[in-house]
Amino acid sequence: MTYRINEIFYTLQGEGAHSGIPAVFVRFSGCNLRCPWCDTEFAEYSTMDADAIIAEITGLYDVANERRKMVVLTGGEPSLQVDAELVKALHDSGFYICIETNGTHPLPDGIDWITCSPKMIESRKPEAESHPAPLALRKVNEVKVVFTGTYDPEIWRSRLEAEHWMLQPLRYTGEWLLESGIDEWEDDRNDNLDETVRYILAHPFWRLSVQLHKIAGLR
Ligand code: SF4
Repeated sequence: MTYRINEIFYTLQGEGAHSGIPAVFVRFSGCNLRCPWCDTEFAEYSTMDADAIIAEITGLYDVANERRKMVVLTGGEPSLQVDAELVKALHDSGFYICIETNGTHPLPDGIDWITCSPKMIESRKPEAESHPAPLALRKVNEVKVVFTGTYDPEIWRSRLEAEHWMLQPLRYTGEWLLESGIDEWEDDRNDNLDETVRYILAHPFWRLSVQLHKIAGLR
């Protein structure tokens, strides 16, 4: 089995409950959704088998703390490719496996930490014209919702079960600002952090997740 890998790199996990923990990220190429504000470059890829992936990850951990070897499978949409063979190979090499998925595709057994970031289809449009992307997952460790301001994130609470519920500001990218109907941001950060914080203060079920790696100038 081979996998289409966009990039593999060592950094800090910047989002969610694992914020600040060093991890090797494996970015898989391709996604089944087209979120209008997506800023992830995942089209290009190299073809690698499990042994090649393990060799590259292990090489990046040369200077890392061996007691905590975390790998984050991300994308694109990693669930379109991650299978039992890769999960076994990573576990056999001693890795704690996290995955960041939009939740629309089933996962192989054995993944240690599942972060589901559910999405709306055509979420650039008013709420009445958008709809939640159908979920193949129900129970996960963490839900991470990008706060677009165009629909109420509470809709995910009846669709998913999780211990951690994170809300993350939306960064302005590309044509989103024009097409979303949002006239202007409240500040020059090019995100809606203030709006997200106000929402969480009014809905304290949620917890703020900022992109710590970007604050730290990391990838
Ligand atoms: S699900 Fe994620 S990777 Fe796919 S288009 Fe949406 S934001 Fe981008």
